[in-house]
Amino acid sequence: MHHNSKLPNASTSIFAVMSALAHKHNAINLSQGFPNFKSDPKLIDLVSKAMNLGYNQYAPMPGSLVLREAIARKFDGLYNSSYNPETEITITAGATQGIYAIISAFVRQDDEVIIFRPAYDCYDPTITLNGGKTISIQLEAPLYKMDWQEVRSKVSQKTKMIIINTPQNPSGTVFSEEDMLALQRLTEGTDIIVLSDEVYEHIIFDNEKHQSVCLFSDLKSRSFITASFGKTFHNTGWKMGYCCAPKALMAEYRKVHQFNVFCVNHPIQIALAEYLDEPSHYMELSQFYQDKRDLFLNLIEGSRFKFRSSKGTYFQVLDYSNISKEGDVDFANKLTIDHGLASIPLSVFNDNGLDNNVLRFCFAKTDETLKQATDILQKI
Ligand code: PMP
Ligand code: GLN
Repeated sequence: MHHNSKLPNASTSIFAVMSALAHKHNAINLSQGFPNFKSDPKLIDLVSKAMNLGYNQYAPMPGSLVLREAIARKFDGLYNSSYNPETEITITAGATQGIYAIISAFVRQDDEVIIFRPAYDCYDPTITLNGGKTISIQLEAPLYKMDWQEVRSKVSQKTKMIIINTPQNPSGTVFSEEDMLALQRLTEGTDIIVLSDEVYEHIIFDNEKHQSVCLFSDLKSRSFITASFGKTFHNTGWKMGYCCAPKALMAEYRKVHQFNVFCVNHPIQIALAEYLDEPSHYMELSQFYQDKRDLFLNLIEGSRFKFRSSKGTYFQVLDYSNISKEGDVDFANKLTIDHGLASIPLSVFNDNGLDNNVLRFCFAKTDETLKQATDILQKI
């Protein structure tokens, strides 16, 4: 049987590839982004409690109202920004599913979607599956700074959506208030939808303030926010998240969401609703991960890797050009197979595989693991 692939250029995700290679060679795995420590036992108890109370059947399609209300309270408290829990917030099976359904709800054949590279891996294939065209803007290492003149030059009549991600995976950079104002000016008076991937909103360092689209009223009026409980509460395997947007946009989103997943894990939603109401559960995260970043960077002091410290996310990029000029995929493979440490090569997230000899390391690991990993990096 012959069939034309809808994604002829897609290969297995680099996260699956590198985690499998780490497993095969028994390497320390700082590649795929997930913690190697447990999530809060209190949260696990709350899930058990919800199961025992009988929340074992379908949740309402947009999500349990108690969780949507808790999320709305979080937006009020943190950003002084209101989203109506009935009509403007939907619970998703992780951020990935939210992103998939948002793009599917709006992007048609030949619509253009602007993304910034290095970009998280799910944006481009989802745009392609919906017949859209990805317009890539390559940010330059090592600063990965936005050039809004260039963005302006790439906006056209066909631009349907702009996808931003701050704090940014994989570069560990963050948008400034000026960046957000530039984006707001650029999109004002247009029908462009902004998809703001804010899964690392609570992991931001050095007293930087997270610039959510909801802080900018015109931007907010055209934007979706996607968020991930997996990233925030150390349980990426639970695949829970949410998205929010003004009512008219959310109504379109839900038309797709109901046939994409209908609803997501019910007992976990009940548990998260209670857990989220204690702000320290997410407010302490930045300091927690800043300490991990600092430990990681202190422990590689004196090594041959070059770096600028990550400003957010739980990733640190390291430049190995002082050590080798070989391609980053080859170098990452060698580091895993010969030295027992797995990372992610950045070229896979870049336009046309641009290779700056940079690898991404996940520091959401126990201090012990970070110590073992940096011992290896010191010897390279
Ligand atoms: N966006 C970015 C930038 C990510 O790093 C991730 C991975 N957490 C996701 C989206 C997907 O999140 P989830 O695991 O909740 O689907
Ligand atoms: N977000 C995680 C990362 O960047 C991986 C998620 C996945 O494996 N799809 O590493």
